[in-house]
Amino acid sequence: MLCVEAASYSLITFVLLAYCYAGTIPLIIPAGYFVFGVGLVGIFVVMSEAGFNDRFRDHYLTSFQIAGHVALQLCFLLAEPGIGFVFLSVVFLIFGFGGLRMTSRQAIVSWTITMIGLAPIFLFTSTPIGLPITTQTERVAAMLSFVLTIGQCAFVGLYGSTMRKMLYDRSFELKAAYKRIEELAELDELTGASNRRCIMRMLEEEIARAARNGSPCSIALIDLDWFKRINDAYGHPTGDEVLRTFSITMFANIRTVDRFGRYGGEEFLLVLPEMDEEQATRALDRLRAIIADLDWSAFSSGMQVTMSAGVATLKPNETSDVFLARADRALYAAKAQGRNRIICA
Ligand code: GH3
Ligand code: MG
Ligand code: MG
Repeated sequence: MLCVEAASYSLITFVLLAYCYAGTIPLIIPAGYFVFGVGLVGIFVVMSEAGFNDRFRDHYLTSFQIAGHVALQLCFLLAEPGIGFVFLSVVFLIFGFGGLRMTSRQAIVSWTITMIGLAPIFLFTSTPIGLPITTQTERVAAMLSFVLTIGQCAFVGLYGSTMRKMLYDRSFELKAAYKRIEELAELDELTGASNRRCIMRMLEEEIARAARNGSPCSIALIDLDWFKRINDAYGHPTGDEVLRTFSITMFANIRTVDRFGRYGGEEFLLVLPEMDEEQATRALDRLRAIIADLDWSAFSSGMQVTMSAGVATLKPNETSDVFLARADRALYAAKAQGRNRIICA
């Protein structure tokens, strides 16, 4: 943006040089305008590089920049009122550039300051402010003044719409990132199954749906058998791999409507909508057999992994706590009866 400002001063200097060539103004005006204009931009570059702007809430020092540049135009307006419209048109540009970053408060302050600067010049001096077009060269200079100002206004508009487009694209990226964060916040990092918070929410949803539709709903609390021994015998990292493989195998063998989540440690909760006690027990026994028959020797020769589960089917008006407690008691019974089995509550 500061580069664009410096380029803008160069363009206006070009107009002033044309007036100088026409003999309307002395060479000191374009020279001074260029030096002071680019010098002012340079001051803001140095401030920005030195981190001075970080002390302000307005990181771009918009108000300071507008005040500085407007003051410079007014000084030159007073010095050379005969071509005053050249400097006045730059004031439009300054507000055009500033408008890209102004807050409403900054806009009011900047406008007030500009008004305070302009009013005395127009009201209390009889200085004739003009844009001479007597000779052909002056007409060219005047035309250049308008054409270049309009071109820069178009640039400001283009810049603004590019920023809007960028913001629009960024909002889409943010939405996608937010969705991904939400997904990650609901997943168990190790197994990729839903985490406890998520599976509990899903359970509540399925209980509500079953109550609404009068359809059955079953759950299974699943616990891996003798898992401590697996950890002790093959190490914790292998234990982790077993949990991951177990989870993947479960996902591969349940319906898409079923909900599977890690309840804690090596304990998992499977929610089976639309399944009565008999269907759920059958489904769980099939899963139990798949896990037991899986070739776990890839992890270590002779490794055996089995699971036990307690199945419960929702009773009318039952809360999730009572529902889960029944499944848990059934799981306890499955363990007590020798493991690698499914017990129905
Ligand atoms: P049981 O058949 O009675 O369930 O026997 P068990 O050995 O599985 O007993 P218990 O449920 O008390 O032990 C669970 C073990 O699971 C204890 C803990 O070290 C292990 N465990 C829990 N979470 C993880 C995990 O994320 N990774 C690994 N590797 N082990 C875990
Ligand atoms: Mg266990
Ligand atoms: Mg356990």
